[in-house]
Amino acid sequence: MTAKSSLYEGTLLLDMKKEFIDVDILLNLYVEENCKGLTLYIHKDLDVRSISGKNIQKYIVDDKISSWSPFITESKKLTIVFNKELVKGTFEKIFFKYSGKIGLLEKSHVNRISSSYTELGLYSPWFPLTESFAHAKFNIKIKTSEPTTVLASNVILNGNHWIINQDFESNDCSFIVSDKFSINKHSVIANDFNVNLYYVDNKHLDICSFLSDKISKLLNTFNSTFGEIEKGILSIVILPRERGGGYCRKNLIVLDNVKKNTNQDTKRYYLKYLAHELAHLWWNKANSSTYEDWLNESFAEYSCLMIIRDIFGVDEFNDTINKYKEISKNLPPIIGLNRSDENAFDVLYKKGAYLLYELEDEIGLCKFNKLLKSIHSEKIDTTSRFLEKLEVITDKATSDNMLLRLQS
Ligand SMILES: [Zn+2]
Repeated sequence: MTAKSSLYEGTLLLDMKKEFIDVDILLNLYVEENCKGLTLYIHKDLDVRSISGKNIQKYIVDDKISSWSPFITESKKLTIVFNKELVKGTFEKIFFKYSGKIGLLEKSHVNRISSSYTELGLYSPWFPLTESFAHAKFNIKIKTSEPTTVLASNVILNGNHWIINQDFESNDCSFIVSDKFSINKHSVIANDFNVNLYYVDNKHLDICSFLSDKISKLLNTFNSTFGEIEKGILSIVILPRERGGGYCRKNLIVLDNVKKNTNQDTKRYYLKYLAHELAHLWWNKANSSTYEDWLNESFAEYSCLMIIRDIFGVDEFNDTINKYKEISKNLPPIIGLNRSDENAFDVLYKKGAYLLYELEDEIGLCKFNKLLKSIHSEKIDTTSRFLEKLEVITDKATSDNMLLRLQS
């Protein structure tokens, strides 16, 4: 975390019936390196009316979709040329005005504006996203055409509008909007968190109340195993979309619709699903665009397996481990993995979790848990720092051996 960071500040008008947004936003850019230009990305269907600033010589809005990130599949490039070199360590104010529709994302279905709910974030960049995914703070006023509820990492209702105040650095500002949330809601106090669980579609009422009974157990287990996190309000929302999966942002967890053969299977699945996403409240520090993402994904998935062992017993845990071992055969190594590799999901979620199981088995639960606590409390965000910590807690041979496994 740098002491100085960029800030997005502005107003977003949302018309859910017309599936339309109108955005007026100032990016107070923190200049990381001397530069004469800046590349940003924005959702392909947003019409840019103006980009202005005292040092802007010109800007170019591409009309075709850019292929630049495995996660951002429907964005176009904005190139800004400055009339002088911006100096590292300074701030530069850039004003943007744009509007348009953001429909369903074709591949993932994550993010859209629709009349029943709206889900926006970096997958369909509604804010000008920097090419480096530079972390920034956000202060955004959300005005909606109808009375509604906005869920986000840190959001308050202020008169007739909502204010998202992300006063921490993040590469995303995701938010979910629906008029259903004022009624479709379960609130519980769990482990000093005020947890609110929301759903859009009534078919998720049952799952929502089931998860609200379990959340305390999950938070307790993770808190005592991995160490403390900042307490506050936690929003968990189940969306009716069939594709795209879930994600976790600070104080905000999004799950999608899961259909299983029986009601019992569905509940079990959701419990694991929530456990994985909830674990990201701890495992979120590594760069998710590179193989270092295993420090997020493999750890979140292994945390979910620990919950399976805890709640469903060691037999189910072993069954899952054996499945992951099978899947892991012939997969590429973690170290050096390209995040857009077709096997990235299996490598980061299954193989990585299996390697953590092997490590736990080798060094014992006591040292393994000590390692997990240290990774969280010392904000370890790279594999080399992970290996150094492993060497301190165990010995050089164990750390060298883990390196070999990560490389094979
Ligand atoms: Zn995850």
